Amino acid sequence: METWQKILQASLTRPADVTRRFGIDPAPLEAVAAEYPMRINPYYLSLIKEVNDSIWRQAVPAAEELQDGVCPADPLEEENQSPVPNLVHRYPDRVLFLVCSECAMYCRFCTRKRKVGGENMQITRETIEGGLDYIRNHAEIRDVILSGGDPLLLADEKLDGILKALRAIPHVEIIRIGSRVPVVLPQRITPALVRVLRKYHPLYLNTHFNHPDEITEQAVKACARLADAGIPLGNQSVLLRGVNDDPAVMKRLMQKLLTIRVRPYYLYQADMVRGTNHFRTSVEEGLEIIRALRGHSSGLGVPAYVIDAPGGGGKIPLLPDYLQSLGEEVVLKNYLGDTYRYANVAPEVPEERRRVVNAQG
Ligand SMILES: *Cc1c(COP(=O)(O)O)cnc(C)c1O
Ligand code: SF4
Repeated sequence: METWQKILQASLTRPADVTRRFGIDPAPLEAVAAEYPMRINPYYLSLIKEVNDSIWRQAVPAAEELQDGVCPADPLEEENQSPVPNLVHRYPDRVLFLVCSECAMYCRFCTRKRKVGGENMQITRETIEGGLDYIRNHAEIRDVILSGGDPLLLADEKLDGILKALRAIPHVEIIRIGSRVPVVLPQRITPALVRVLRKYHPLYLNTHFNHPDEITEQAVKACARLADAGIPLGNQSVLLRGVNDDPAVMKRLMQKLLTIRVRPYYLYQADMVRGTNHFRTSVEEGLEIIRALRGHSSGLGVPAYVIDAPGGGGKIPLLPDYLQSLGEEVVLKNYLGDTYRYANVAPEVPEERRRVVNAQG
């Protein structure tokens, strides 16, 4: 079997390499790839069945990327909430720590499109040390999310070093890894990697499947290895026009994820990121997908649908309107649209505490 390094090395990085195979004109795509890097490894390429299918759209540059006059480059204002390079401290008790600028594939819809795979995400030994120092010096941080880029593209020893340093910080209770590797390069989930990860429990891994066709035999094996090592697996999908904006497709994705021990965690409304406007759907479509899941299929397979608020406000959950009115009587609508009533009781939480709860959200 080929090693993951070999597969990665054989990645296609020029549109002509792809379009030649499919008999279409690369010219319109060359300029796109010059602006936003392209990397399609042979494994993910092999999942494409035809031009413009759900896999293709995630991986192959599209002319629309350069025609986006709507979206800003850093809508989440990660830069403003970054006390040291490559670390985002937006929430009180947890941080996002970017430890690798590379990915196994450059997703066309990526939120950090302006940074990944290029010179705009400078990750060095110094920035990693700086991030670790920041975490050490902030005792309120109890949850560290390793992200990038893709942290699982780091060499085993390098990742081992970072995890070891984090685990040595007493106030860090949990570590999370955000990685698309189980989807786009499952061969990377080797027994040796898993031996590194399992030393640092409690360690969670959130991956990023967007379409049921991504759940291949290899992906199943990768997730089984991780789950067998006691790593709870979650999934963060992005709602993408032309990829998964269909309740039936989403339902199949969520159900298949449960069969491979991956628990749906978030469904993101697509961020407003320059070069990705053509992927955005309406919020109504997202709510419709949640409506089609809740009650109609396992509750375990219903992710929280969120908008990551432009301006750095964090993730805000959205629910279809099950709660019709809230007073002495609670009027509710169930998954079939039928109305139910629940007799409420007066709140007993003291006024003082209620204010604290509200203030903390
Ligand atoms: C998403 C995110 C987190 C983690 O949020 P959870 O809701 O706890 O999963 C933390 N920091 C930043 C900057 C994020 O974008
Ligand atoms: S793997 Fe994640 S960070 Fe990398 S390009 Fe895809 S969405 Fe962006």
